[in-house]
Amino acid sequence: MITGAKHAIAFSSGTAALHGAAAAASFGPGDQVLVPAVTFVASANCALYVGAEPRLVDIDPVTRNIDGERAAAIAEEDPRVKGAVAVSFAGLPVDLTPLREARGGELILIEDASHALGGTRNGQKVGGPGGADMTVFSLHPVKAMTTGEGGIVTTEDDALADRLRTFRTHGVVRDAATGAGGPWEYDMRSLGYNYRVTDFQAALGLSQLTRLDGWIESRDAIAERYRELLDGDTRIELPPRAEPGSLHGNHIFAIRITGGATVRLAVFEALQEAGIGLQVHYIPIYRFSYYRERFGLTPEEFPESERYYSGALTLPLFPALTEPDIERVVRELDLALAGAGEPDPR
Ligand SMILES: *Cc1c(COP(=O)(O)O)cnc(C)c1O
Repeated sequence: MITGAKHAIAFSSGTAALHGAAAAASFGPGDQVLVPAVTFVASANCALYVGAEPRLVDIDPVTRNIDGERAAAIAEEDPRVKGAVAVSFAGLPVDLTPLREARGGELILIEDASHALGGTRNGQKVGGPGGADMTVFSLHPVKAMTTGEGGIVTTEDDALADRLRTFRTHGVVRDAATGAGGPWEYDMRSLGYNYRVTDFQAALGLSQLTRLDGWIESRDAIAERYRELLDGDTRIELPPRAEPGSLHGNHIFAIRITGGATVRLAVFEALQEAGIGLQVHYIPIYRFSYYRERFGLTPEEFPESERYYSGALTLPLFPALTEPDIERVVRELDLALAGAGEPDPR
C-alpha cells in the first residue's frame, strides 16, 4: 500500500468510506464532529449519517484548511465535541497537531484526504503512520487515481479496522457461534451496509496505482508552472505551498481573485466564454439550504470562509495539461482580469 498504512479497507465510494469512518469512530446522537466550512458536503454529511452533528469551523486564511487553533478551542470548551473530519483541502496536508493536542488527546480524528492521495506530511505519507486515527481517500474519477467509484480508509488501529470491515459488509461476522449449529454460521452484531468494491474496481485500482507517482509529479510540475507565470500579480492570490518536507497532492489549483465576488463572476464568465474549464471549490457548507435551515447558520459566523469563497476560482489541473495549455489559461486569465471592471469595495 502506497501510504504505508497497516490497514487499508476499500469502500464503494469515498462517501461510503467517510460513513464507515464516522461509524467506526462511534460518533452518534449527542456528539459533535468538527468539520471545515469549506469542503465537499460529504465531509460533513458523514456525521449526519450516524446521527451526530457536524460543527462547522471557519478556515485558516493561509492554508484554507480547518483553523486548527479555533477547532481546538471549540473542543476545549464543549464536551459534546467527540472528534473531527479534517480535510486536506486542494491536497495541502492539514496540520493535525492542534486537534491532536486538544482535550488531552481524546478526540477521534478522521482526515478526509480525498485531495491528498500521494502527498506527504513532515516526511510521512498521508494516510500512513503518524496521521489521523483514520484517513479517507476517494477514488472517484476526478481524483488523483480512480476505481470508477471507490474509496479507502487507512488506519493503524486493529479494532477500528475490524469495525470498518464489518460495517462494509452488513455488520456480519463469521468468527463466532450463534447457536445455529453448523458450518454455515455467521452472526450480525451491528448494523452495516453493502459498501464493498467489486473485483473490476480493484483491478482498475491496481493498474492505476502503478501510475500514481508519475501523475502526482505531473500535477506538481503544472502547479509550479502556474505559480511561476502568475507570481506577483496582485489581482490574484496563489494557493499555499506545502511546508518544506511535505508534498502537496495538487488535486486542484484554486486561486483567489482579490477583487471579490463581482470581479470573480466576470472572470469566470469570460474564461468560460474562452472555452476554459473552470470550477469553484467549494460553495461553503453553511450556504446550502439544508444546513442553513437545519442548524441556523449564517455566513457572518465564517468570515475567512466567506473571504476565500468570494474570490475562489479553480484553474484546470490534470496530468495531460500541456505547456501551451497552461500558457493559454494564464493569458486568458490576464485578459479576463483586465476586462473585469473595478474590485468590490471592502
Ligand atoms: C470527492 C470527495 C469526497 C467524496 O468522494 P466520493 O468518492 O465522490 O464519494 C469527499 N470529500 C472530499 C473532500 C472530496 O473531494
